Amino acid sequence: MEYQKIINTIFDEVKQLKDKGNIADYIPELAKVNANKFGIALIDNEQNIYKTGDANEHFSIQSISKVLSTALIFSKIGNELWKRVGFEPSGNSFNSLVQLEYENGIPRNPFINAGALVIADLMLEHFENPKEYFLTFIRELAENNTINYNEKVAQSERENGYRNAALVNFIKSFNNIKNHPDDVLDFYFYQCSIEMSCEDLAKLFQVFANNGIVPKSKFQFLTTSQCKRINALMQMCGFYDQAGEFTFKVGLPGKSGVGGGVVAIFPNYYTVAVWSPKLNKKGNSYYGLETLERLTTITEASIF
Ligand code: GLN
Repeated sequence: MEYQKIINTIFDEVKQLKDKGNIADYIPELAKVNANKFGIALIDNEQNIYKTGDANEHFSIQSISKVLSTALIFSKIGNELWKRVGFEPSGNSFNSLVQLEYENGIPRNPFINAGALVIADLMLEHFENPKEYFLTFIRELAENNTINYNEKVAQSERENGYRNAALVNFIKSFNNIKNHPDDVLDFYFYQCSIEMSCEDLAKLFQVFANNGIVPKSKFQFLTTSQCKRINALMQMCGFYDQAGEFTFKVGLPGKSGVGGGVVAIFPNYYTVAVWSPKLNKKGNSYYGLETLERLTTITEASIF
């Protein structure tokens, strides 16, 4: 497959689109990012890297980190995890509170903020130095030791994170948060502020496209069944209340973040990451989704 030619064509086409959405400004530090950035990186199953635009510039991965924290905790505690968080799509926005009351503080899935906060709580419970462990894990899988978190972004979110504070306190009232809410938020803002490039992201997510095995080291991070479950969650819950549309139009498991990143995987074929900070009304990268829809259309291949 001529992936380089394909992503170049898509890049040129998508860049011309008029309705480009808005950069996330509810985290003031994120609003400072140049809204016109746009990069694509694709890695095939033979580890060839194809990229264009700002594919090597670091950006805030935000909610994409939720896949990584969930996978890490799942590999550590196995199916015990599902006692604390569900695996159903929410059909609601990423920061919604509404379902928690009806479901006794058990978030619908780990990729909405409520679920990611429970995962953050589990990270504190099961790892002595969760931040260090998490960052080391990411650096190893992406094979890049320069990957780091951004204190300014974490601080900016801490200062404005009233909704996340409400969520964690509300869940704690149901006894589904074991640590102090401030500590849980601290880890959550840390994980969201981690920065990396499209190329790093595509490399990191290869493990999910490869049955849970890290392609280079052959380390089995997740069992086949666990990998299936993480991918199923990405398919059902990766884009919040736009997960149905993403499945409908793109047909791959994926995950977005309000930093404008989107990553998608085609098991046994490729991983792809796109970055463009302008978001649609559902909080997903406008160019990101346009790019991926074109990719599976032009290549005439999706998991369906
Ligand atoms: N840190 C962001 C928040 O909690 C993550 C949201 C996202 O990327 N969708 O609001």
